[in-house]
Amino acid sequence: MINPKAKYKVVIEAHADEISWFVNYITKEGLIYVIRNGGSDHQIAPSKRVIIHGDKGPVTAVFGWPAIHTRNGEKEEAPTLKNIFLDCGCTSKEEIEELGIHVGSVITYEDLFITLNDRYYVGRAMDNRAGGFMIAEVARLLKENKVTLPFGLYIVNSVQEEIGLRGAEMIANRIKPNVAIVTDVTHDTQTPMISKISQGDLFCGKGPVISYAPAVHNNLNKIFIQAATDNNIPFQRQASSRSTGTDTDAFAYSSDGVVSALISLPLRYMHTTVEMVHKEDVDNVIRLIYESLLLITDGQDFRYIK
Ligand SMILES: [Zn+2]
Repeated sequence: MINPKAKYKVVIEAHADEISWFVNYITKEGLIYVIRNGGSDHQIAPSKRVIIHGDKGPVTAVFGWPAIHTRNGEKEEAPTLKNIFLDCGCTSKEEIEELGIHVGSVITYEDLFITLNDRYYVGRAMDNRAGGFMIAEVARLLKENKVTLPFGLYIVNSVQEEIGLRGAEMIANRIKPNVAIVTDVTHDTQTPMISKISQGDLFCGKGPVISYAPAVHNNLNKIFIQAATDNNIPFQRQASSRSTGTDTDAFAYSSDGVVSALISLPLRYMHTTVEMVHKEDVDNVIRLIYESLLLITDGQDFRYIK
């Protein structure tokens, strides 16, 4: 929080929560069926290593899958919530419970951070830990460059974005900001099996993505575009028909309506454990948020018609 006493309040926000699974049913043979916590992808589960966050600490487990030899090659069964299961090396329900695991225990993947070709950051939950990193870097830039902002700035991480923007709703109601700049990830559409007709033509490495959507205020977008143009920051554009699916929607429709807009980081393979983002895009999102903040004035009136 910067200038906490200021009347005019600007939020920069990213969600911090990560998609995961819940233990839903433990069989008497000692296997575990799961349900989603957010948009976890059943298709990528088989053969993944996980951590079950039990009452007695983390427990390692794996998503098992029948061997190729034992499957009917002609009509293969696809992974779904009905057939994926966890094996934590136990042979009974009692043994699982002794490890501190119960119905409702949360499960995350154990995959860690790597880089590819010194160009991409790769890992799980880049959606949206990258956002948390970027707004923190904006705070660092403001401090290092000794910027005095004329308004209150709130740098916030939300929870529960992945299950319906719930944390952002709470933040918006608590802070009652005048302006909200949200950053989240969006889909790079350059890899196979993604339709550019429905998903747009977006690239990792071509810069931050500015969104057009009902929840987005065009006059705040104009500030982003001016900041990008003045500072030679590349940017791309995306349109969303009803909602952006990000915390932007929660901020925009909170209180009496909040001037909100979205700066997205292009990302490949969303909701897998190998989410990829381009290093230069990360730097450029940071710069774009920073430079945009410098253009916002105290009490700025964003109305279209005055
Ligand atoms: Zn997500």
